[in-house]
Amino acid sequence: MSKYDFDFFVIGAGSGGVRAARMAATFGARVAVAEDRYFGGTCVNVGCIPKKLFVYASKISEELAIAPGYGWTVPPGSFDWPTLVRHKDAEIARLNGVYERLLKGAGCEVLNGRATLVDPHTVEVAGRRVSAGHILVATGGWPTVPDIPGREHIMTSNEIFHLPALPRRMVVVGGGYIAVEFAGILQGLGCAVTQLYRGELFLRGFDLEIRQFLAEQMRHKGVDLRFDTDVARIERHGDALRLTLKDSSTLDCDGVLYATGRHPNSANLGLEACGVALDKAGAVVVDGEYRTNVPSIYAVGDVTNRVNLTPVALAEGMALARRLFAGKSYQVDYDYIPTAVFSQPPIGTVGLSEEQAQQQYGAIDVFTSSFTPLRFTISPVKEKAFMKLIVDKASQRVVGLHLCGEDAGEITQGFAVAMRAGATKQIFDTTIGIHPTAAEEFVTMREPVRST
Ligand code: FAD
Ligand code: NDP
Repeated sequence: MSKYDFDFFVIGAGSGGVRAARMAATFGARVAVAEDRYFGGTCVNVGCIPKKLFVYASKISEELAIAPGYGWTVPPGSFDWPTLVRHKDAEIARLNGVYERLLKGAGCEVLNGRATLVDPHTVEVAGRRVSAGHILVATGGWPTVPDIPGREHIMTSNEIFHLPALPRRMVVVGGGYIAVEFAGILQGLGCAVTQLYRGELFLRGFDLEIRQFLAEQMRHKGVDLRFDTDVARIERHGDALRLTLKDSSTLDCDGVLYATGRHPNSANLGLEACGVALDKAGAVVVDGEYRTNVPSIYAVGDVTNRVNLTPVALAEGMALARRLFAGKSYQVDYDYIPTAVFSQPPIGTVGLSEEQAQQQYGAIDVFTSSFTPLRFTISPVKEKAFMKLIVDKASQRVVGLHLCGEDAGEITQGFAVAMRAGATKQIFDTTIGIHPTAAEEFVTMREPVRST
């Protein structure tokens, strides 16, 4: 019998924590999980799930606009924000229950409250001290807002999911995943949207042509995209907000969403007192097997600030539980992680951007295709799609695949399997397409548009 109360104590019942706890319990470990806010973490409560529901809601306005081209006469639609929020909340409440039951059903003890570390084997939750052989920090991240005058007037992704009413004119600040996703959501739901980004083109790190293409499509849909722009201060003017930009111009609106990144949730957890090393951004520093510098303490997911995506946190939690309690060494492979930005139209991407591939391989072939998807041919709404393959000339391996168009996430997931298996351009070329789809373009691109 172990000298500790539990074999494994997990702080945070989000994507990584729930997966690690459940798997550990399944392998026979005695597991406790502490959660102080919501079961399922960011993804379920204020992230992936409610966001995707909002994307679906906003795209219905596009369906209505397309309908006349297909012979449908649709009466003018009206949208009720409180109804959407209420239905979303009911689904999230259902999921909270599912997550809590999954933990309890696997045999984990669930402690409601904020956990702090007392020493490398002791955690305190709501005045109760418990000991554990291994402790996992899976506390996720939190929105970062720059310290500008008037920051009390802004909202972040945490608040936007619960707004009592939808503001008519919205400004979105930032140029990452959350900013472009919400610019599309808000536009689709009928807001007048201005997106401000401090750099020359949003989605830094993604393939340049894809970023340019998305910017064009968003402008075409009516989003007022302004690059090389930043906010100096925000003031309330009656019912409205006035933003003064750094070039001294002003912009009036009814709501401001800041999506300017997230920071690891590592403060006031007792980590420093236990000697756990954090980096400059506050991320818990871990090795390839999620060990911190303190032998009994581990960390996975956003609190380590590496690849901040739910499936990555899940994979890390699973790998750790397997290693600690099933005796199986398993390393998460961080190459060729597919990702989607649920912008409108969405982006799907796996592998290297053209810029990265050129740096890494030197000689590459680039194939692109831009076209009007069939759905938009007899529709009054016009939208285009853009697809791109990047091939390492020497090995002929497809090292980058990018798409901006309908169903990008669904399409990219399947191609990611082929790319991880090392598929060459010849394998793509000899794969029969599915007609009529947009995805078939990826197997019918014959001549490179450029080679280096
Ligand atoms: P989290 O899911 O954040 O879980 C951490 C948990 O720890 C929370 O429940 C928190 O309450 C709890 N906690 C913190 N401190 C304590 C404490 N001291 N004691 C007890 N409990 C504590 N990723 C995708 O892959 N696809 C998407 O479409 C996507 N969309 C997103 C949209 C938005 C708006 C946001 C904000 C994020 C999105 N993400 C998406 C990212 C994804 O949500 C995160 O990568 C993922 O949730 C990280 O999981 P985690 O386990 O590390 O942390
Ligand atoms: P990101 O890190 O993706 O983007 C942050 C953006 O804010 C960047 O454009 C950045 O600019 C800008 N920014 C940072 N600081 C400032 C500042 N002081 N003033 C003005 N602009 C600033 O963060 P998000 O908040 O969008 O999302 C967090 C993470 O959550 C994502 O990186 C992703 O890992 C995950 N996520 C995943 C989703 C998905 O899978 N679909 C959806 C949503 C989130 P610059 O580029 O110049 O640094």
